[in-house]
Amino acid sequence: MIIDPHIHAVSRTTDDYEAMSAAGVVAIIEPAFWQGQPRTKIGSFEDYFATLVGFERFRAAQFGIRHYSAIGLNSKEANNEPLAEQVMEILPLYLAKEGVVAVGEIGYDDMTAAEDRFFRAQLELAKEVELPVMVHTPHRNKEAGTSRSMDVIEEHGIPPHLVVIDHNNERTCKEVLDRGYWAGFTIYPKTKMGNERMVEVVKQFGSERIIVDSSADWGVSDPLAVPKTANLMKERGVAEEDIRLTTYQNALDAYGQSGQISEDDWLNPPAIDQRTLWEGNSVLRGQEPKVDEQADSGLIE
Ligand SMILES: [Zn+2]
Repeated sequence: MIIDPHIHAVSRTTDDYEAMSAAGVVAIIEPAFWQGQPRTKIGSFEDYFATLVGFERFRAAQFGIRHYSAIGLNSKEANNEPLAEQVMEILPLYLAKEGVVAVGEIGYDDMTAAEDRFFRAQLELAKEVELPVMVHTPHRNKEAGTSRSMDVIEEHGIPPHLVVIDHNNERTCKEVLDRGYWAGFTIYPKTKMGNERMVEVVKQFGSERIIVDSSADWGVSDPLAVPKTANLMKERGVAEEDIRLTTYQNALDAYGQSGQISEDDWLNPPAIDQRTLWEGNSVLRGQEPKVDEQADSGLIE
């Protein structure tokens, strides 16, 4: 069983969902992020958040995958301050929805004053709603941005066990772990952190508090990055328990602190019934629906 705790599934296809399920992915976490083009109206954020906690959960479940979200204002769009202020007002509504396991992904992109302002405001919000935090670290100035993210989190008095610092590399990993945080690693198919390098990280740092994810989105990325890394770790002689912790259990323990995700969700899942509709719509486009036996016999509604 595998959890991908960072994937932007709205940008992926049903083929991806089928392949992920076949590769052992039982649950995913989808953090709110920007969509390649900045939004210009609050309604675009509202509909996006509603999709994450609504239709996308339904769509994933149609392929046997349990879907959870992190809701937040991403760092890039924090730079449109008038709009960001409006987003802050609607966040509490969506953070209270079922299956929302964290405030995220939040943090720094360019480390501007506006980014800093809304990162801090959302850390305060996380304390208020008592949810873990998923932190996006910048791709430029990675080391400085990662250290500064942790400094700010500490200023706001959030304990590290409630925070996943994501998009780490070999250079940021030690400090993140030493300071007591969960350390997320995004596996990129061609550049940055590849799965070969990830195997070496686990060999060097072990498996405690290390989490592997795909961050697959609308860009060049791989929705099978986590199962592929698990397979490569196995091939390279990493212990089964270390593989289980980094590709499943640690994510569950970190985000399980929300009380919104538990193993029982996929060990005793509702049966798949692709005849089910979401507000009158199906995912099938005229294809033959997949219906689990229990659903068909009416044992599970
Ligand atoms: Zn992301």
